[in-house]
Order: sequence, then structure tokens, then C-alpha cells
Amino acid sequence: MTEAIDYDVIVVGGGPVGTTTALKLAKRGMKVALFEKREAATLDHRASTFHPPTLEMLDELGLTDPLIEKGILARSYQFRDAKLGKIVDLDFSVLDNDTRYPYRLQVEQSRLTAAALEALALEPNVTAMLDAEVTDVRETGAGFEVDVVSGKNGAVTASGRYLIAADGSKSLVREHYDIEFAGHTYPERYLVITTSLPLHDILDDLAVVNYVADPENWHVLLRNPSGWRVLLPSDPALSVEEQTDPAYVLSQLRRVVPVVDGYPVVHVTVYEVHRKVAATFRKGNVFLIGDAAHVNNPLGGMGMNSGIHDGLMLADVLPRVDRGESPDTDLDLWAENRRAIAKTYVGEETEGNWNALRDNSDERRAAKRAEWEALGRDEVARHKFLMTASMLTSVR
Ligand SMILES: Cc1cc2nc3c(=O)[nH]c(=O)nc-3n(C[C@H](O)[C@H](O)[C@H](O)COP(=O)(O)OP(=O)(O)OC[C@H]3O[C@@H](n4cnc5c(N)ncnc54)[C@H](O)[C@@H]3O)c2cc1C
Repeated sequence: MTEAIDYDVIVVGGGPVGTTTALKLAKRGMKVALFEKREAATLDHRASTFHPPTLEMLDELGLTDPLIEKGILARSYQFRDAKLGKIVDLDFSVLDNDTRYPYRLQVEQSRLTAAALEALALEPNVTAMLDAEVTDVRETGAGFEVDVVSGKNGAVTASGRYLIAADGSKSLVREHYDIEFAGHTYPERYLVITTSLPLHDILDDLAVVNYVADPENWHVLLRNPSGWRVLLPSDPALSVEEQTDPAYVLSQLRRVVPVVDGYPVVHVTVYEVHRKVAATFRKGNVFLIGDAAHVNNPLGGMGMNSGIHDGLMLADVLPRVDRGESPDTDLDLWAENRRAIAKTYVGEETEGNWNALRDNSDERRAAKRAEWEALGRDEVARHKFLMTASMLTSVR
């Protein structure tokens, strides 16, 4: 079956970024088609941190309260040292006058995707199709056509005036338009272990979010609704099978917490981490958002958040430009601004966190510890630091 459909906007990819962007565009009066190749938004152990500006933006879509209900509030977070323990506990209350959400919310990204898909199903101007893979993109006189292969719906061709690539780091749309995705790959892989162990009862005085520094044994401990998550660097010389082998996983978990018996592991992921930014986020009426536009390491939890900001800010500008209320150059400004944020703010913050956690110079490590301790004492410095770490300064 081949069916022709007409939309204002076609969104390729229904992850956290594509679904929320499609929802906002629909609420702003645009007719939207969203195609997602996965069959369902299953629980997935990827991003799990929501920063204050993201919660503010999602609130406009009615998505923040349901997320808060399912999540865990981190009212502070810690920098620790693997040998010395807690260095500082940074209390977010210093941001009380800056945001309605002075905390980090820990909840798996798939909760957001599922809630956004439910909300999309209630919008009259939206077709949101799961199990629907975009296999080709063509330009037509009036805009774009995409070919979609769907297990349920067969072959579909959809046409739209604008095309938004929210199809993740291996973006078909980005590759189709030959947009360079330059950057580097980090030397280690990241092993992410979700454990049923109650780390808050086992380890001393933990916060919900903890960054632990050590030249050999740096790691991150995050408390999520599905369990404590331990993120550690892993040896890229080992195969994925070797790194996810239960004996290896247990040996890595034991670097962080004593495991007395059994295999208290709920989920394991191992992945390669990159810092890359697309050469442009706009090519005519094609827009790149989220991981399709930029990827970075997860230390600081900024990738998904900045991707959601890309999409929801685009959904402010695009309907106005489309109705002729704003000049087309506003879309260029959006693209330049979001690219600069990805390249400098997000790229440098996350890489800075990585460098600080793994630094092997005793002198620099001591200086960093002193800097972190000072943040605990100096409210003005803590406010400045947390405005950046919470991404508030990236959107204001
Ligand atoms: C294994 C892993 C672990 C991660 N862990 C963390 C973490 O701990 N902390 C953190 O901050 N970030 C983490 N990230 C990054 C974070 O998950 C991403 O930044 C976030 O998912 C970006 O959202 P997105 O919607 O842009 O892309 P994605 O979530 O990748 O969504 C893209 C969607 O597009 C769909 N798609 C792709 N191609 C097509 C096509 N041709 N047709 C239709 N649909 C298509 C995909 O199925 C996917 O659902 C992790 C990433 C990975 C891969």
C-alpha cells in the first residue's frame, strides 16, 4: 500500500527529543507526522537526569508533574573522592529564586517518551507512528517526501514542508544531507550497571547523584527509580561480550561496593562515547535536533537535556516564521545559538567533568578538591556554579 499524506512538519525519530518537539509544534497549531522505528517506548537505561530548565519547558506541555511523580528528586549532589569519601554536597536551594524546579530529577528518559507519545495521541493534528522506519528522504518542489516502512502499516510516503531530524546519533537525515559530524571518541567505553543493592544504606552519606573522582577508579553513582546506577570507564580492548559477562560486571561493581553474594544486577549497558557536533543544525527547511545534531559524554547529564532544549526552542520559532510573524533569519539564529551551546557550553562542561574525575596529577586533584570544598562554603560561588551545572545559564 502506498499512501500520500500532507503535513506541515515531518519529525523523524520518536525519542525524548522528537516526541516532545512534535507535541509542542502540534500545540502551536502545526500538522505533524512523527515516525519512530521502535515498536514501543520500552524502559531504557540511557539518560535519567532532568535539569531545571528542561522541567520548566516540559511543564508547558503538561509533562513535568507526571515525570516528577515517577522520579526521585535530587535536592543536592556530591563530588566525592574514591579514597577520601565526600568532598562537598551542593545544595540546589541556592537556585530557589531562579527556577520553580531547584533540583535535578532522576527518572529514566523512556518515561518521558512514553508520556509524550500518550499526549501526542490526544492531539488532532498529529500522526505518530511507531514501528515506522524512515528509509529515504526526497526533496519535492513544495518540501519533502519520506518513505516509511512499517510492520503494521506497510509502506507509507509522507510529505511535509519542514523536516526535523530527531533520529539520534546515526541520523539518516543528517547523512542524507551530507552534513559533517566531526569530533572525537573517548578512549574508554562506559559500563553502566543498574543494581538492586541499596547503595544509600551500604555507602556512607550518599546523595542521589554522586560524582566520584579517582585516576583509576572514577565513577558516577545515580539513584534512579529502577535502581542505583553505577557508571564506570571500561576497557575498550575487551569485546562487548567480555564487558557484559556477569563475572566481569561483578568484578567492576566490586570496585565500588562490596557485593557479598548473588548477582545483584538489574541491567548492564556498555557504550562508546563521543563528542561530536554537526557542521550546521539547519539546511534550508531541514533541522537537526538532539543526538542527531550533537553527542557528548554523559558526565553532567546534559545531552538529552540540551537536545530537548533544541527541539522545544525550535518549536517556539518555527510556527511564528511559518505564519510570517517572524523573519526566516530567526531560524538561522536558532541554529547558530543551539550549535554554539552544543559545541562550547555542553561540550566543555561535560569534558571538564570527565577531566576532573579522572585527573592523575596529585597537585591538580588537590586543587580541584579545594575548589569543590570552597563551593560548599561560598554561596555566591555555589550559585554561579549551579546555574551552569543546571544548564540555566545556557537558556537565558
Ligand atoms: C547506551 C546509551 C546510554 C546513555 N546514557 C546516558 C546517560 O547515562 N546520561 C545521559 O545524559 N545521556 C545518556 N545517553 C545519551 C542520551 O540517551 C541521548 O542524549 C538522548 O537519548 C537523545 O535523545 P534523542 O531523542 O535526540 O535521540 P534518541 O534517544 O537516540 O532517539 C532517536 C530515535 O530515533 C529513532 N530512529 C532512528 N533512526 C530512525 C529512522 N530512520 N526512522 C524512524 N526512527 C528512527 C530511534 O529508534 C530512536 O528512538 C546515552 C546514550 C546511549 C546510546
